[in-house]
Amino acid sequence: MPRSANAKIQRERPAARPVLSKARGAGKAARTERNCSVARTLDVVSDAWAFLIIREAFFGTQTFEAFRAALGIPRATLTDRLRKLTRLSIFRQVATPGSQRREYRLTKMGFDLYPSFIALMQFGDRWLTAGKAPPLTLVHMTCGCESHPYVACSSCGEKLNARDVKYRDGPGAGRRPAKAGRNTRRASDGSRFSLGRPSSVSRALEIIGDKWSFMVVREAFFGNRRYDKIQSELAIAPNILTDRLSRLVASGVFHRRLYQNAPDRYEYLLTDMGLDLYGPFVAMLRWGDRWLAANKPPLALKHLTCGHDFFAAVICDHCKKPIIAADMKYKLTYDPKAFGALGPRSIS
Ligand SMILES: [Zn+2]
Ligand SMILES: [Zn+2]
Ligand SMILES: [Zn+2]
Repeated sequence: MPRSANAKIQRERPAARPVLSKARGAGKAARTERNCSVARTLDVVSDAWAFLIIREAFFGTQTFEAFRAALGIPRATLTDRLRKLTRLSIFRQVATPGSQRREYRLTKMGFDLYPSFIALMQFGDRWLTAGKAPPLTLVHMTCGCESHPYVACSSCGEKLNARDVKYRDGPGAGRRPAKAGRNTRRASDGSRFSLGRPSSVSRALEIIGDKWSFMVVREAFFGNRRYDKIQSELAIAPNILTDRLSRLVASGVFHRRLYQNAPDRYEYLLTDMGLDLYGPFVAMLRWGDRWLAANKPPLALKHLTCGHDFFAAVICDHCKKPIIAADMKYKLTYDPKAFGALGPRSIS
């Protein structure tokens, strides 16, 4: 069996798994889940409406009515999501002088989601455009060039590849009780991601924006490729796991391989496309570590290529500088007039 067929982040040393649930004792163990900065990040962006609102904000949208116009979102839903994103410190509200109206501005924490969005966009551009031109071309104002950013090691600047990274438990490692109701979300919500303007980020999230789908892919990066193992790691309901695995096979993230007969059992291996999700994965990991881990990252990552611990940096392929929202402009391959306020950041 070719080892290279599976993307596996190698463990640096075996780590005992803390068993929270057993200590709590009596009877049936509570469901637990691994502490994970990617999961925390997805709690924020895997709500399709919340994601779309943040994306419009990157395009320069700031007012309630402009969000409405761009997304066709129901008023009550928009009110709810803006409130939630403000509570999460992704947005702050700003009073407009001489008006009752408030505007919504991304905070530093909100702007810092930008590299994760770009990592997802590049993935969507590579795999999900069905032969057409990507909806957006990025122009990096720092160097003045068309840019195809990639996810790199913060230490050596080389492009990150799932096979070149070892991980070990960080200060925030462990498990905690699984949140109730986590498995109730229907995968059909995925189609909402494509409301509004055409977007490679939306296309990427249609495939992996459902939190369970991404968690299954995460387990693959940890080397867990068999149904039972994934099921026990995630404490996921069997019908949901079956559904997500077949969706991920259908969308080209996994391929299935028979490893046992009578009864037939399959394992799920990442395809090249699945492997390419590693960039978005570590970019979101970085954001969760930075903003939602209270200085205690659950995972420490070491880059085997350079031998150093690192975090993910999304850098311009041309000038190698880390990209930030304020330095980027866009050329659109679609007519933006249909999607409400264009914002100041596009150029023709
Ligand atoms: Zn340049
Ligand atoms: Zn490195
Ligand atoms: Zn550049």
